[in-house]
Amino acid sequence: MRQSKLFTKTKKEAPADEISKNAELLTRGGFIHKEMAGVYSYLPLGLRVLEKITEVVREEMNAVGGQELHMPALQDKTIWEKTDRWDDAKVDNWFKTHIKAGGETGLGITHEEPLTALMAEYVQSYKDLPFAVYQFQTKFRNEMRAKSGIMRGREFLMKDLYSFSKNKDEHDAYYEEVKAAYKKIYNRLGIGHLTYVTFASGGIFAPFSHEFQTISPAGEDTIYVDESKGIAINKEVYNDQVLADLGVEKSKLVEQRAVEVGNIFTLGTRFSEPLELAYTDEEGKRQNVFMGSYGIGVSRLMGTIVEVLSDDRGIIWPDSVAPFKVHILGLGDTEVVTRTATELYNEFTAQGIEALYDDRQEVSAGEKFADADLVGIPFRVVVSERSIKDGGYEVKKRSEEKGKIVSRAELLELLSVK
Ligand code: ATP
Ligand code: MG
Repeated sequence: MRQSKLFTKTKKEAPADEISKNAELLTRGGFIHKEMAGVYSYLPLGLRVLEKITEVVREEMNAVGGQELHMPALQDKTIWEKTDRWDDAKVDNWFKTHIKAGGETGLGITHEEPLTALMAEYVQSYKDLPFAVYQFQTKFRNEMRAKSGIMRGREFLMKDLYSFSKNKDEHDAYYEEVKAAYKKIYNRLGIGHLTYVTFASGGIFAPFSHEFQTISPAGEDTIYVDESKGIAINKEVYNDQVLADLGVEKSKLVEQRAVEVGNIFTLGTRFSEPLELAYTDEEGKRQNVFMGSYGIGVSRLMGTIVEVLSDDRGIIWPDSVAPFKVHILGLGDTEVVTRTATELYNEFTAQGIEALYDDRQEVSAGEKFADADLVGIPFRVVVSERSIKDGGYEVKKRSEEKGKIVSRAELLELLSVK
């Protein structure tokens, strides 16, 4: 993509009302636009990142056998009444409205209810189980506070996976598979080293749920990390009994602020029972389906990556989610620079190397460098009279301070899609 054609422009200052780092950098870089508190548009650069995160999550969900579907945002009140989660006194973050023809509807806060009801039409026998389905879906939650930029939206993108098993043993095995898939996801997204499986409140069917918490001062949660075990405990459930149950020593724990980037739950029959999702077992007996649900905040992840992978000049995207792999900067509007840079851009495009080409005329070198640092593309390639005289192109990683001059062949080797 040619930067001269990109309708978004970088900004030197963030809007005064954006206090979080992720919203500040993403707004200045032209990734997002705030519509109102907790509600953001994803602009071309931001959408590319969001789609890359989505693709990583999708690959890992497919790898654990998840079948992708897509459910509506509008929810049928009668289904939620069956699980007693419609009443505002029970769930306080609904966005609800009236249907003109009569009745009420709400915008999905999550999808356990409609999905369980849907499956009751497809699951009859033990032969139909186990399986899992997932979706990427906009969730709506009337959050009280929305001061963390895209990390806490009133409208946000979630991946939610649901598993349907015959019994607890079958469920437990699948739950561990998903837990492992989640670890792979955070590793691939470049935040694995900061992300801990965290024991959090469970329910009737399991003593704990597991959150995935990424250490960051921007986090809204407090966790206690046991570095030697590679696990953490959420403050919500932290007490002497829990420490004893988990075999964790108090002296080894370090208190940290963290962002909840995912959460997996054993639902048991909490939803299948009221919504009548049951199957006939080998002996001909009716049994309730044993369920699990597994969420990942896709848009929150984008914000989290910015919070933890950035410096005072801007974002440092990991290769896996960067909007482009390489940022070509043409410096000085001379004929030879323009020709060399354009040829390089065309060559990258032909080879499938995603490139953003800063071909803007009459923009100073200093501004182009500052913008490249802000936007945070992993590789920066400078084409200038000087680089050409020195033998080619100056390539520099966003995460490193110094670049080096390389030939065209070396550059293509370095950036080639492996
Ligand atoms: P929180 O405690 O932060 O409010 P939650 O526990 O209510 O989150 P879940 O219902 O577990 O959230 O949703 C699954 C995932 O969706 C969370 O782990 C988080 O990553 C993401 N998420 C939840 N609420 C939001 C939000 N308002 N904006 C963006 N992402 C969110
Ligand atoms: Mg949660």
